[in-house]
Amino acid sequence: MKDKKKIIIVGGGVAGLSAGIYAQMNGFDSQIVEMHSIAGGLCTAWHRKEYKFDYSIQWLVGSKYGVFHNVYRDTDILNDGIEIINPDVHLKLINPQAEDFVIYTSIDKWENYLLEKAPEDTHAIRKMCRDMRRCTKLESFDLAPSLRKPFHYIRALFRSYPTLLTILKYKNLRSEDYFNLLNIKNEWLHTSLHGIYGNANFSIIPFLLILSWYAQGNSGYPKGGSLAVAERMHQRYTKLGGNILFKKRVAEIMVENSRAKGVLLEDGTRIEGDYVISAADGYHTIFNLLKGKYFSSNIKKAYENWEPFNAFVQVSFGVNAGLKTDVPVQWVLAKGKEIGKTKLRLGYRILNYNFDKTMAPEGKSCIIIRFESPWEIWENLSEEEYREEKKRIEKAALQLLEEHYPGTSALVEVCDIATPQTTVRYTGAWKGSYEGFLPSPKNITQQLSLTLPGLSRFYMVGQWLFPGGGIPPSVLSGKWALQMICKEEKRKFTNQ
Ligand SMILES: Cc1cc2nc3c(=O)[nH]c(=O)nc-3n(C[C@H](O)[C@H](O)[C@H](O)COP(=O)(O)OP(=O)(O)OC[C@H]3O[C@@H](n4cnc5c(N)ncnc54)[C@H](O)[C@@H]3O)c2cc1C
Repeated sequence: MKDKKKIIIVGGGVAGLSAGIYAQMNGFDSQIVEMHSIAGGLCTAWHRKEYKFDYSIQWLVGSKYGVFHNVYRDTDILNDGIEIINPDVHLKLINPQAEDFVIYTSIDKWENYLLEKAPEDTHAIRKMCRDMRRCTKLESFDLAPSLRKPFHYIRALFRSYPTLLTILKYKNLRSEDYFNLLNIKNEWLHTSLHGIYGNANFSIIPFLLILSWYAQGNSGYPKGGSLAVAERMHQRYTKLGGNILFKKRVAEIMVENSRAKGVLLEDGTRIEGDYVISAADGYHTIFNLLKGKYFSSNIKKAYENWEPFNAFVQVSFGVNAGLKTDVPVQWVLAKGKEIGKTKLRLGYRILNYNFDKTMAPEGKSCIIIRFESPWEIWENLSEEEYREEKKRIEKAALQLLEEHYPGTSALVEVCDIATPQTTVRYTGAWKGSYEGFLPSPKNITQQLSLTLPGLSRFYMVGQWLFPGGGIPPSVLSGKWALQMICKEEKRKFTNQ
């Protein structure tokens, strides 16, 4: 149609793909510009020989029902053919100084396990599990913030009040503060909880919510993993007539008379449109693509004071052996251990992907070791230093693999190391952060606006609007942007 309005979308991660899908559904002509050669952004995986090394989804909130689930259905993140794997165990903590610590995905099962192991903390355990059970009522808003009416908030209050009360009660507490408040006496329980969640500024709210989502069977893993999710979204987008321009980096968002007019690519190409949605990294969008000309005091405060999640190093091994494990995700306490230039803050994770047979051929295994590694270590490394650092990491990771799976280091067919530099190169994520802003008492009840002051026809979507980040709010914000644009265009929003 000749008079179709055009929406330019910067970035083809899950948020950009979601915005693109809803744009096509609503009769717009949309164009995604993506700097990488594939869609998905952080929600990705890579193939090495016969192996697929996954980088994102361990759990997907909304895998069974709810507002997030509806977006997954619209965008083909999930469909009836996708098997959802609901694990019995969330993770196992391995503490070399003490007995292993298991977190079950059923609150009842976890409560009984803890009561048996630490009967002296009956009161604290019961209170913690009660708080988690109260958190099962949270539901996100389907409508964009600016389109909500008071009755939407009243309805949400009625539906979610036990959860909202719990959030209000604890919103100012870091996880450490909450565990201290519980006054846990058992040394093993105390060390284990602090060992997993004792991040200096981590809010207690996500901890309480995670198990409540699991308990409802609403936080499963979609078989096929992150890349398959991104590929399905990409296919849905192109089937609806959308177009992605790959390997093109946006250098500037063009603005005329306070109105977004399109994008200027690094190669000098100008693409004009009626609306621009940025689904790229938030810092890059505001301070580079828009040259720091449009932001509110809230946004300034966020980027100055809110801490991003630390970046990761991911060492992926393809092993020629079927390595069995009872628990796919293990966290190992190793505070202060040095891996190359990184001194571990708490420890590392070791993931065995044998629960998803799409990751390795029969009889072979994908084992992934991840540890936090601050961006500052990687930011200014020369090429030579970078290569050397990767060699040191490979050697250290092989030793860890051997400790966990004796005899396997000789069976390694592939070793792949993705560093914070890799993340920045392929996704542009600020400081290599894998989920945007860390949820802390400073920001846990806040969200950043999809619009910027003084700039019309422009929207922002994606993980940087929501402390805690993750796929669910990122894809929901793509829907919100289109609801807002439809309102501006005086047309009825549709998800068909
Ligand atoms: C190790 C790891 C584990 C995770 N685990 C989970 C989990 O279990 N559950 C969960 O829900 N989430 C998880 N996440 C987080 C989740 O993957 C992200 O929150 C989500 O994918 C973010 O999507 P996004 O579209 O907002 O941003 P991004 O994925 O960052 O997408 C931004 C896109 O914009 C592109 N771009 C940037 N700048 C430009 C430019 N100038 N020009 C053109 N293109 C540009 C990038 O290439 C990228 O494709 C995990 C992430 C990681 C890395």
